[in-house]
Amino acid sequence: MAERVDVVVLGMGVGGEELAECLAESGLNVVGIESNLVGGECPYYGCVPTKMMIRADDMLAEGRRIPGFAGDSTVTPDWGPVARRIRKEATDNWDDRVAVERFEKKGGHFVRGTGRLAGSGKVSVDGKVYEATRAIVIATGTSPAIPPIAGLSEVPYWTNREAVKVEHLPATLAILGGGAVGLELGQAFARFGVKVTIIEGMSRVLAMEEPEASAVLADVLHRDGIELRVNVHAKSVERASTGVRVNLDDGQQVLAETLLVATGRRANLQGIGLETVGLKPSSGLLQPDDRLRVGERIWAIGDVTANGGFTHVAIYQADIVYNDIMGSPGPGADYRAKPRVTFTDPEVGAAGLTEEQARQQGINVRTGIQKASVTSRGWIHGPGNDGFIKVVEDRDRAVLVGATTMGPRGGDILGIFELAIKNQIPSDDLRHLIYAYPTFYRGVGEAVRKLGGDDVHQPIW
Ligand SMILES: Cc1cc2nc3c(=O)[nH]c(=O)nc-3n(C[C@H](O)[C@H](O)[C@H](O)COP(=O)(O)OP(=O)(O)OC[C@H]3O[C@@H](n4cnc5c(N)ncnc54)[C@H](O)[C@@H]3O)c2cc1C
Repeated sequence: MAERVDVVVLGMGVGGEELAECLAESGLNVVGIESNLVGGECPYYGCVPTKMMIRADDMLAEGRRIPGFAGDSTVTPDWGPVARRIRKEATDNWDDRVAVERFEKKGGHFVRGTGRLAGSGKVSVDGKVYEATRAIVIATGTSPAIPPIAGLSEVPYWTNREAVKVEHLPATLAILGGGAVGLELGQAFARFGVKVTIIEGMSRVLAMEEPEASAVLADVLHRDGIELRVNVHAKSVERASTGVRVNLDDGQQVLAETLLVATGRRANLQGIGLETVGLKPSSGLLQPDDRLRVGERIWAIGDVTANGGFTHVAIYQADIVYNDIMGSPGPGADYRAKPRVTFTDPEVGAAGLTEEQARQQGINVRTGIQKASVTSRGWIHGPGNDGFIKVVEDRDRAVLVGATTMGPRGGDILGIFELAIKNQIPSDDLRHLIYAYPTFYRGVGEAVRKLGGDDVHQPIW
C-alpha cells in the first residue's frame, strides 16, 4: 500500500532542501528523500569548501603583495588550518545531522535512501511507496562527469569531492579541465605551493565566458606558476612511479603525483524511473517550462534542468515551484540576466549573454570595455588589479544584454548589471548614474560610456 502524502521531493540538495523546508513550514505533508547528504553538493563538496580554500589562497596572495606597498612579508603557506576549517565549519565533517533536524523541525518527513519514480504520482524508496497527491519534485542534481579516457578507471584520481577533503597536499597536480572548478581549485592549490598543470581541450580556459577573461586569467595563472596546456586532449592515463602520467594527443606527457578530473557534471537522471512518468531528458537534462513543470504534477529544479548549474539558480527555481504548488504562482522563471561567478583571483562575474552569444542570436551588438587597472580604484589598488568590465549592448534597443565584471570583487559588482539586463534599463540611464568615487563599480559607468560607435570590438590591451 502506498502512503499518501502531499509532496515528495526527490533529492535534498540545495534546491530540494530549500523547497521541501518551505513547503513543510507551510503545513504540507512533505517527504524529502536523500541518498547522500541533505544540502547536496554545494555545502559539502562545492561552493562552500572551495570558497574557504579560495579565501585562504587570497590571503596568501595579498600577503605576497605587501613588499613595496606596506613593508616586508614572508608568507609560509600551511594547508592544515584550511583542511581543519573545511572539516569543522563548512561541512560539519560531512555530517548532515543539523540539516535533517532543521527539516524535521519544520514538519518534514525525512527518508534516507535512493528514490525512484514509480509511475504517475508515485515514488518508491527501499520498497516503500509514497503517493504524492499534489506534487513530485525532481531535484537529484549532478555528479562529476568522468570522460572516457583510456586507463582513467585504472588509476586513482580526485574529483571535487576528494579535492575538498584533502589534508596533505601533493607536490604536483594535473587537472583535466580548465573550467570554473578546475581553475578555482588549481589556483588555490598552486598558491599553497603545489605545482599545477591544467589540461584544457578548448583553445582557452574558461571558454564559456568572454575571451578577454580567458586571456587575463591565463596571464594571472601563469604568474601563479600554473602551467596551462590548452587545445590539447588527454588521450590516455597510466600509473607512473611518482603518481600518474597523462598522455596528451599532441604527443606530450604530463607527470603528476595526483590527478584531478574537473571535466564537467552529469545530471543524476539515470535510473530514477523517468520513463515511468513518460519523461525523457534532452541533451542529458530536463527542459521544464517557466514554472519548472515537466509533467502533470511533476516539477524539476536545480542542476537537472537546462538552466541550472548554480546554487542561486536552484534556490530561485525552488521559490517559483513553491508558489506554483501553493497555488499562488508569481512570475515565471526568467534567465535573461542569469548571473555566474568564477571565484578565481581576480573573480570573473558575468550576467546575460557574452558578445559571441549575442551575435549568434542576431543581435546588433556593440561593446564597451574598461580595464580595471586604469580606473582610479584599480590604480590605487595596485597589484592584484587585473581585470576589466565589459558590456554587451543591443544597439537597436539601446539596452544591455550581457556584461562581464572581472577584477577585485568582480562577483559583487555584477549586481547592477543583472538588474539592468533583466529590467531592460536603457544604457543611457547607466551612463548618467552617479558612481561613488573611487569604487571598483565606478568602472561600470566607464565601460558603458565606452560603448563603441560601430560593432567592431576594440581590444584594450
Ligand atoms: C566544486 C564546485 C564548486 C561550486 N561552486 C559554486 C559556487 O561557488 N556558486 C554556485 O552558485 N554554484 C556552485 N557550484 C554548483 C552548485 O553546487 C550546484 O549548482 C548546486 O549544488 C545544485 O543544487 P541541486 O539541488 O540541483 O543539486 P545537488 O546539490 O547536486 O543535490 C542533489 C541531491 O540529490 C541527491 N540524489 C541524487 N539522486 C537521488 C536519488 N535517486 N534519491 C535520493 N537522493 C538523490 C544527491 O545525493 C544530492 O544530495 C559548484 C559546484 C562544484 C562541483
